[in-house]
Amino acid sequence: MKILVINAGSSSLKYQLIDINDKKVLAKGLCERIGIEGSNLQHTCVEKGLDKIKIEKPMKDHGDAIQMVIDALIDPEHGVISSMDEIGAVGHRVVHGAEEFTDSCLITEAVMKALEKCTPLAPLHNPPNIIGIEACKKIMPNTPMVGVFDTAFHQTMPPKAFMYALPYEYYEKDGIRKYGFHGTSHKYVSQKAAEFLGGDPAKLKIVTCHLGNGSSISAVDGGKCVDTSMGFTPLDGVPMGTRTGSMDPAVVTYLINKGMSAQEVDNLMNKKSGVAGVSGVSSDFRDLTAASKEGNKRAQLALDMFTYQVKKYIGSYAAAMGGIDAVVFTAGVGENDAATRKAIVSGLEFMGIKIDDEKNNTRGFVDISAGDATVKTLVIPTDEEMMIAIDTKRLVEGE
Ligand code: AMP
Repeated sequence: MKILVINAGSSSLKYQLIDINDKKVLAKGLCERIGIEGSNLQHTCVEKGLDKIKIEKPMKDHGDAIQMVIDALIDPEHGVISSMDEIGAVGHRVVHGAEEFTDSCLITEAVMKALEKCTPLAPLHNPPNIIGIEACKKIMPNTPMVGVFDTAFHQTMPPKAFMYALPYEYYEKDGIRKYGFHGTSHKYVSQKAAEFLGGDPAKLKIVTCHLGNGSSISAVDGGKCVDTSMGFTPLDGVPMGTRTGSMDPAVVTYLINKGMSAQEVDNLMNKKSGVAGVSGVSSDFRDLTAASKEGNKRAQLALDMFTYQVKKYIGSYAAAMGGIDAVVFTAGVGENDAATRKAIVSGLEFMGIKIDDEKNNTRGFVDISAGDATVKTLVIPTDEEMMIAIDTKRLVEGE
């Protein structure tokens, strides 16, 4: 079965066509500047090993974008299918499924209504996801569609982990609780780790560290998420590229009392903080490492703050699960930054976590544990699109 994976943003749309039987990407690309001047589609035919092409053409809305994607997929030269009918199903990434969605699901009218109900919790992300689904449904009315939620994997957290200590009615009336994000990535790498480790997956305790521009850590016990570092929004947890991560919530009221508006504080915490704000250098870990090597103390401080918090999450999640079998690193920083991985795990030898420096300097899916480590440390490249395609097949075939 060929599955089209769609990740729709407000003015962009990423896609991949995946042959799910062979777990192979056939084509992939991106529509940019939808609804604004300079719309273009960038398409790569992976199957034929062709170079990326860029087509500039006005796209007034997501419907135009999806039509352009289909045209590219059936193009005799750069396409990989002969007609739209070869697309067996479409898997849509949806950021927020709130408590409504504990798993991926087939999209029905009732599901579309439930999605609308989740929108207040993700006002910037869910509307474009919904628009993407609606545009696709119009063009492919007979193709089954599946929604895959960033929050769903975390819905197995127990109340003691997801509740905030506000008066209970704020949870009941406003849905204020920890939801967690990056769930598709945490699910994918924890499943891959379990396959690699072998044995009974129900007995495995894994801490997955998705470290990228946005970062989150999850505790996965027996394949189920029992805690995660992001919260009501993706601002919580460890410091990120430009986001604060956790801090005393009283800082917010302090700044508002000093005269900043709520919007200004929100902007400050999401866009101007994190390792970029502390270092004054960049949100990119490559720039921070380079600056630190040249003696920039604030760049080193930002890196130290990041690795210290990730280390603390690994320790606390091992405590929460009553043990740990593996630590998994994934995403831009987790997959590529050996020095940051090393800084995170150093000092955790008392827990049996120890890495081999030579193995740590290799790329790809790799077991970087030292020979005498009792806890495995793995680097596993994430693949959210493949996870979406796997879930889409499962739902469509009713497995
Ligand atoms: P992501 O959000 O998963 O795409 O990760 C993007 C981030 O990964 C970038 O902002 C960089 O901080 C980081 N990154 C990517 N490549 C490298 C690398 N080779 N070394 C260090 N950090 C990297």
